[in-house]
Amino acid sequence: SKKPARVAVTGAAGQIGYALLFRIASGEMLGKDQPVILQLLEIPDEKAQNALKGVIMELEDCAFPLLAGIEAHSDPMQAFKDTDYALLVGARPRGPGMERADLLAANAQIFTAQGKALNQVASRDVKVLVVGNPANTNAYIAMKSAPDLPRENFTAMLRLDHNRAASQLAAKGGFKVGDIRKLTVWGNHSPTMYADYRFATVDGKSVKDAINDQEWNKDVFLPTVGKRGAAIIAARGLSSAASAANAAIDHIRDWALGSKGEWVTMGVPSNGEYGIPKDVVFGFPVTTEGGKYKIVEGLDIDAFSQERIDATLAELQGEQDGVKHLL
Ligand code: NDP
Repeated sequence: SKKPARVAVTGAAGQIGYALLFRIASGEMLGKDQPVILQLLEIPDEKAQNALKGVIMELEDCAFPLLAGIEAHSDPMQAFKDTDYALLVGARPRGPGMERADLLAANAQIFTAQGKALNQVASRDVKVLVVGNPANTNAYIAMKSAPDLPRENFTAMLRLDHNRAASQLAAKGGFKVGDIRKLTVWGNHSPTMYADYRFATVDGKSVKDAINDQEWNKDVFLPTVGKRGAAIIAARGLSSAASAANAAIDHIRDWALGSKGEWVTMGVPSNGEYGIPKDVVFGFPVTTEGGKYKIVEGLDIDAFSQERIDATLAELQGEQDGVKHLL
């Protein structure tokens, strides 16, 4: 049988963690033949550590055959030891009276420390997914804090935006959501993201032609996808957790096991593709194979799309400028 994979998860006692860990342990992320060791990180705070103990008891009580070990940590240097995967979920939420700059600074501190720890103790092939917001900028900070690891190992989650877009398109066009191919989301995981179905197909036919409604794209689809998180908070009184966890599973599964030629969306450091400056962690269409992703190149960017891409890039560069002095 296979050697267990080490999977570190931060913010493990939070909402997303609760929706995520059981699915990782049951084999939905890395495959039903891949044992896993969970290396869980929470803040040292007693309440968080106690909550983490409770989650671990529940994981034990599931008697998952693939779960080869569980560790609880409060120090990233221990949680990231030899880890093959790192899902960075824990982040500092915006508190009352907290300005955007304070939020960026608080998270910069967390992700600088975690990047440094990954740099020192993680597997050299570690695959890092940042979920905690602001996800793209947090991934950028972690990457910059880990100079000895390949920069392409650091990614941010745009997959929830991708899945939300697919679901809206399926409803509008009467498609089966699983039949939609070549969809992507450009940019920042924020309401400025640009979900782009110009290249999307169902059974080889153009989704754009089938929908044929540019007003709907601009006035309904993009705002609906962009503000979906807020709509869920309004309805549920809590932020989305199960769908965020599901997207994290999709992201790592496709990265690790391959997308079989299909496009998926990942936030990855740019190499200059589509005029996005090097190292900006940006949502791109990618294909994955053998544990590596490749940005889909050569797509035509029309004036409307360029405007959207410029806007989400400007927001990301603003965030980056806000943390530069901390790196
Ligand atoms: P959640 O588990 O609900 O969310 C965790 C992070 O994911 C937040 O930053 C959240 O951003 C982000 N996120 C990204 N996409 C989504 C999405 N679509 N829907 C919802 N959230 C999304 O937060 P909890 O407060 O329940 O749990 C966080 C845990 O992390 C706590 O237990 C805390 O102790 C821990 N923590 C751990 C740290 C560490 O390990 N070093 C550091 C800081 C916190 P947003 O805030 O924008 O919703």
